[in-house]
Amino acid sequence: MDDALFALPERYQRLQTEAHELAALVAPYASAADESAVPDEDVRRLLKSSGLAAVTVPAEFGGRFADVDSLAVTVVREVLAGTSAHLDSMFAMQGIGSYPLATAGAEGLRKRWLPAIGSLDAIAALALTEPDVGSDLRALRTTIAQDGGDLVVRGHKSFITNAGAADMYAVLGREGEGYSLVLVPARTAGVNVSHPHEIIAPHVLGDVVFGNARVPADHRIGDRGQGFKVVLATLATFRVSVAGAAVGLAQAALDEAVRHATTREQFGVSLARLGPIPSMVAQSWTDIEAARSLTYRAAAAAARDPLGSLNLSSMAKIAATESAGHIADRAVQIMGRFGLVRGGLIERLYRAARPMRIYEGSTEALLDALARQLVKGAGG
Ligand SMILES: Cc1cc2nc3c(=O)[nH]c(=O)nc-3n(C[C@H](O)[C@H](O)[C@H](O)COP(=O)(O)OP(=O)(O)OC[C@H]3O[C@@H](n4cnc5c(N)ncnc54)[C@H](O)[C@@H]3O)c2cc1C
Repeated sequence: MDDALFALPERYQRLQTEAHELAALVAPYASAADESAVPDEDVRRLLKSSGLAAVTVPAEFGGRFADVDSLAVTVVREVLAGTSAHLDSMFAMQGIGSYPLATAGAEGLRKRWLPAIGSLDAIAALALTEPDVGSDLRALRTTIAQDGGDLVVRGHKSFITNAGAADMYAVLGREGEGYSLVLVPARTAGVNVSHPHEIIAPHVLGDVVFGNARVPADHRIGDRGQGFKVVLATLATFRVSVAGAAVGLAQAALDEAVRHATTREQFGVSLARLGPIPSMVAQSWTDIEAARSLTYRAAAAAARDPLGSLNLSSMAKIAATESAGHIADRAVQIMGRFGLVRGGLIERLYRAARPMRIYEGSTEALLDALARQLVKGAGG
């Protein structure tokens, strides 16, 4: 059996090395950054000087790969998420927020924004969710209306990562009978940010109200009425990277649990030899390897054909994020009261794991979509 068949090509291994170097520099700031609701300046400085944010934009605009590469984003997120959820989110959102522009935006706008996003001089955001609309995005109420040479955006977007920190929002709204995406620079008159929610794993998050925000018509991303197509392509490229982040988080939780179990004794024996703890760590290791294998396979497929491999990406996201939840929970249990201490690594990982099963396609919504296809494929 040729091991190389399942080894990452060298260019991805080099990226992993770079990501590990960045993660080591960020580690001293991670605990404070992961509590922050605004971008941490030290983390931003370190990510910027690493040059890794360039992985999130195409080479033509200063990126590392000709097209944004799902496997590259995934392996970087795996490393970053093991150190800091804040760092991982700061990296990933540059891609998620700018991918619509990179693939379907007007040339002038791409030149204006993408080099700045790839160098982290500008921050990107993607605004889909609304107060009454989550998984069922087609029910959204935000409107986009053409008025002469302008587009007028009106609506309320909720739970938007980077709200308040972003320099641009890619906004999905109804335009006539269809849905369009539009780029709204954050400084546009009528754009107002609030922060009504604080979540269990602090996050740069907020609501954005677009009150008749007016932008030139060339700020429509993609053709009129084709917004969902662009959003789907974005999710198809980035969903699997959430799986990568979940694998990295789970690995960090297991490493910490093993470190604790091998350095503490109860009843005169190492915790690592006590009762069910050996089988708990072995189960976590097994779960991580299974999730990592599926994630790399799905990410490699998404790098070649994002839409064609969306099912595999969804499966990887389900498997890896659900596993990460169980593994972080087991790690807390293995560490006993020390797993509960605020600001400790395990407590942070435990909280950071939870939202992963909800955003970018909740587990149940993804299972529902997969099941429908399975049944349809079988003629049901
Ligand atoms: C940390 C964080 C960051 C986020 N960042 C962004 C962002 O940058 N931009 C943005 O637009 N949004 C963002 N969101 C919002 C996120 O996309 C939504 O939370 C997600 O789409 C789920 O919607 P919901 O929370 O309204 O849950 P709902 O859709 O109301 O779902 C509630 C429950 O119903 C289940 N459910 C829903 N649909 C189905 C179905 N078809 N079959 C079976 N069960 C189903 C869900 O799994 C869940 O258990 C973020 C959320 C979080 C937590």
